[in-house]
Amino acid sequence: MKVLVIGGGAREHALCRSLSLDPDVTALYCAPGNAGIAEVAELHPVDALDGDAVARLATELGAELVVVGPEAPLVAGVADAVRAAGIPCFGPSREAALLEGSKAFAKDVMAGANVPTARSYVCTTPAEIDEALDAFGAPYVVKDDGLAAGKGVVVTDDVEAARAHALACDRVVIEEFLDGPEVSLFAITDGTTVLPLQPAQDFKRALDGDEGPNTGGMGAYSPLPWADPKLVDEVMQTVLQPTVDELRRRGTPFSGLLYAGLAITARGVRVIEFNARFGDPETQVVLARLKTPLAGVLLGSANGTLDLVPALNWRDDAAVTVVIASHNYPGTPRTGDPIEGLADVVEKDAPDAFVLHAGTRQDGDAVLSAGGRVLSVTATGKDLTQARERAYTAVGRIRLDGSQHRTDIARKAAEEA
Ligand code: AMP
Repeated sequence: MKVLVIGGGAREHALCRSLSLDPDVTALYCAPGNAGIAEVAELHPVDALDGDAVARLATELGAELVVVGPEAPLVAGVADAVRAAGIPCFGPSREAALLEGSKAFAKDVMAGANVPTARSYVCTTPAEIDEALDAFGAPYVVKDDGLAAGKGVVVTDDVEAARAHALACDRVVIEEFLDGPEVSLFAITDGTTVLPLQPAQDFKRALDGDEGPNTGGMGAYSPLPWADPKLVDEVMQTVLQPTVDELRRRGTPFSGLLYAGLAITARGVRVIEFNARFGDPETQVVLARLKTPLAGVLLGSANGTLDLVPALNWRDDAAVTVVIASHNYPGTPRTGDPIEGLADVVEKDAPDAFVLHAGTRQDGDAVLSAGGRVLSVTATGKDLTQARERAYTAVGRIRLDGSQHRTDIARKAAEEA
């Protein structure tokens, strides 16, 4: 199978790495990719938001499967354009991707499917905003309705900060605060059949101890030793299958990756948000644990034949990923700094650690930082303690001037396990 992956972050590097290890994959392309992906896939330039350009590239390459990584191309209709060119595509249509592209749409689908989530108001005027903030009280949860790269959500005790964020949005969802640990659960679906992956937890705040601003994600781990073993079954029954069924009933079947961001509250599991694609950085740890070759599963989703895909196989190993971010991320990050020590992670005694590139570019022999999140250093081990030791050993070998990373990824879960 010839496969084209769209995107250029660590999630796409993780996807490409898994696809490159799949014996059924005869050729692997990525557009636009990054310096790390270039080691496992042939890179092609493309405007990932231009569906016609992506479809043209896929046709030229003879791709038999296109995998769209990020949300923005999905919301822009890239999967529709690829399918219109007669090529199977992993990823939802523009209409179904609204599940991520509009928080208000997601709330409406959840209401229709009876999926447990935070009570919420959709507001467009200052009066509505004040009424909603008053109704819920602190802590305030204020979400920009549209796509905001994981940064459109403000959770604060400060009513003025909550109001200021709400007023800056065209349309805003204000909702009840959900208290409890968060879990990310991914499912692959073809619009009817739903295949859950293993749960993971990510770390959204920039600094240790969950301090500092929200980011795209600073690290992740899987499995979750503290979680109820029945969690996946429960979420399948109460969240994933009903949501997929509801979208099909509405005439907008969802195929691709359905990402449920969940809060485990005292009153039960609640959906915090849906995403329409693999999460970054959770994908890095989930795929590190998946034994089943990836391409056939993604093709089953794209072709509507997921019911024929055998049950997934998982390693018993734990996986941890630690994000190395640029100076000043998540503000305007400094880019163009040389990254050193990458080869050391591979060559020295760390066969269970690997570096996934997020924002990098090749410049002659040098690899330079080219984004806010630069690398996602991933390791597996017999448990979380060993996986995190290996991941942090690898992090210690990499030098990037001014870079930052959290030192507490998976620490609490490893200690409690
Ligand atoms: P989202 O982009 O919707 O995932 O929100 C980003 C982060 O904000 C989540 O991972 C949560 O940590 C937090 N958050 C979002 N909604 C809520 C909520 N209703 N209650 C508590 N925290 C929330």
